[in-house]
Formats: sequence, C-alpha cells, structure tokens
Amino acid sequence: MAVRRKQIRELVDSLLAKHNVKPGTVPVDKIVRAFEIEIRLDEVDEGLSGFLFRDKKTGRTVIGANKGHPRNRQRFTIAHELGHFLLHEGETIHLDEDQGAFTINRRDLKSAKGEDDGEREANLFAAELLMPAKFLDQDLQGKNVDLLDDDSLKRLANKYAVSVQALTFRLANLGYIKP
Ligand SMILES: [Zn+2]
Repeated sequence: MAVRRKQIRELVDSLLAKHNVKPGTVPVDKIVRAFEIEIRLDEVDEGLSGFLFRDKKTGRTVIGANKGHPRNRQRFTIAHELGHFLLHEGETIHLDEDQGAFTINRRDLKSAKGEDDGEREANLFAAELLMPAKFLDQDLQGKNVDLLDDDSLKRLANKYAVSVQALTFRLANLGYIKP
C-alpha cells in the first residue's frame, strides 16, 4: 500500500471546511468528538504516546493520549489516532510509541523495516490536520523558512499549537525549508 496523499489531503480539507476552521490552532478535540469518539488522557508509561481502541461489539471508540506529555504532543497523538480511525479499519486496539515529533505503532518498533505505510499515513494525516498547507501558505507567502530563525519557528509553532520539531518536518515536506 502506498501512502494515499491526495485522499488524505481531501479528507482533511473536508473536515476543516465542515468545522469552519480558521488559520491558527485547529480544534482537534472537537473534530474527534464529532465522530462520537471519547478522548482520554491517561497515565501510561512514558514511551507510549497514545492509542486507538475500537469496541466492535458496542461500537464505542476511545482515543487516548499520554497525560504526562506536553499539550502539543497530545494534540499530534490525538490527530494521529483519528487518522487511523478514518483511514485504517480492522484493528481493535492500536498502540503508538513516542518517536520525538512523530508517533509510530508499537509493534513496528520491533521490525527492522521500521515505520510502515499505515504509520506514515497517520502521521501525514495529523500534520495535514494540525498544520494545513493552505494556512501555512498564507503565513509564509512563498518565502522560505530559515531553520536558524528560532523565534519565527516558535511563533508559528505556537500559532498552531504544535511542536517546533513537528512544524519543521512539515515545512520541509511542503518545500519551505531548503537544504
Ligand atoms: Zn499509529
């Protein structure tokens, strides 16, 4: 399975339109709850960033994030798990490990292959949702970002309530950071 970039962008665009999201901090909790998904912040071991639990019998769905993590990390985790919910059917329980800016399925850590396409899709979904390209395009107006300019990176990260690390990856993916 290849990463479904176009489909993910379209899915995120429809969610942003439906919730009338304006540039700034995307209301990820509200978007998740609109799917009747329960959000829980749990005290779990530090290495675990979050999980998605789907009870097939009752239809109940829970997304959990690590209570001890900073809010911007929790937001990314919650968006990542929503990505699994919308893009990947089948699994009942999905556990994700903390990997710095990103999140990865726990079982994949043990495979030499590392990140699989499902995790790439969930991370891309989270990045698209929390840092929409159309908003960043307005912010940056085609100007490249200087990686050494900590202040402007921090300001932009604060605006979207994401980590500087996640923002940096996002900007590199969108071509705003040149080597
Ligand atoms: Zn995952």
